[in-house]
Amino acid sequence: MSSRRKVLKSLTALPLVGGLLGPSLLTAKAIEDTVVGPAPRNFFKELGLRTFINAAGTYTAMTGSLMHKEVTSAISYGATEYVNLDELHDKVGERIAELLGCEYATVSSGAFGAMTIGLAGIMCGMDEKKVAQLPDTTGLKNEVIVQKAHDIGYTHALINTGAKIIQVTTAKELEKAINEKTAMLWFLNANTEQGEIKWEEFIGLANKHGIPSFIDCAADVPPVENLFKFTKLGFDLVAFSGGKGIRGPQSAGLLLGNRKFIEAARLHTPPRGTTIARGMKVNKEEVLGMMVALELYLARDHDKEWKLWERQIKLISDNALTVKGVETEIHVPPHANHVPSLRIRWDENIVKISKDDMRKKLRDGHPSIETVGNKEAVGITTWMMDPGQERIVAQRVKEVLAEA
Ligand SMILES: *Cc1c(COP(=O)(O)O)cnc(C)c1O
Repeated sequence: MSSRRKVLKSLTALPLVGGLLGPSLLTAKAIEDTVVGPAPRNFFKELGLRTFINAAGTYTAMTGSLMHKEVTSAISYGATEYVNLDELHDKVGERIAELLGCEYATVSSGAFGAMTIGLAGIMCGMDEKKVAQLPDTTGLKNEVIVQKAHDIGYTHALINTGAKIIQVTTAKELEKAINEKTAMLWFLNANTEQGEIKWEEFIGLANKHGIPSFIDCAADVPPVENLFKFTKLGFDLVAFSGGKGIRGPQSAGLLLGNRKFIEAARLHTPPRGTTIARGMKVNKEEVLGMMVALELYLARDHDKEWKLWERQIKLISDNALTVKGVETEIHVPPHANHVPSLRIRWDENIVKISKDDMRKKLRDGHPSIETVGNKEAVGITTWMMDPGQERIVAQRVKEVLAEA
């Protein structure tokens, strides 16, 4: 019997409890606290923080995604027992590899952390002296070749090891850039279209020269197939964010692929301390949370979810279109954040509000709504919303546009 039920039972066994103590001594609040427990704390409210409907997407600044109950239960469970950290990583790594049909896996500190430890693993192998030496790369292969169109900032995860980025544009340039210092070739899936060299050719070049390849797929679920596709295509290492589409812990991620490199990557992580990735610790709670989030994600009805997002986007679009001078565009980015998305545009001579002011009005309203965009359009996605919130967003979008 739960302790709440026990208290309830003992209270009902005392029929005179109210009469004996009197209403002034045993207030309604005290009875409620005893019987059902104190109201859960609203921490964000206590701290004076604004919470909001996320109509934007999986942005770190907006704390990414929300975890399902099963995931937070796993995290709570993890906090109640001690285990050996390495043994936990070993077991969870095997489990994830089995789920995703790849050779090996580990839970990392985000996709960013996965990139740092993955490259560090490639650079140092199982040599503990080299592991301790980083970020000093003396005597190590320390160049990473990247297509210029893929070098948008996340390469900082790679230079954290002490390595250097070598930018190239064409396949010919890539081959010319390869030398005895080349450690790895790195690909940013989000910018597949912008780069000249596509997946197969990229992997072909890596194999031809015997150089490991790594693909950053941080924001590339959905589609769920991507969790399997890139290890099968032949990338040696693949990184995903845990706290985006998979809705695991925001600070967790997945490093998938070649066992030899992932075991070497682990040498840089806690519990070992004299390493570059000691600060990229993933605690047992997050390791479990990541595993359960992945299990849930794989088991989800992805078609049903997609159709729901399409309906939600259409509802918001239809509401916006009731205002004269407004145009909408429904689109799906080909890579990264591959979900039904909406752009709302209007002629500011007819609807007299700027795009920035529209976003501010939505943010400042009740409930607060976060959107994205630029000077030309307000951008909306629904995949990070709770079901039903799309109606609130549709209503507010229409209101703000109609009032302008
Ligand atoms: C989000 C993102 C990252 C960083 O991922 P984290 O899981 O937050 O560490 C890296 N690369 C790309 C392309 C991303 O979108």
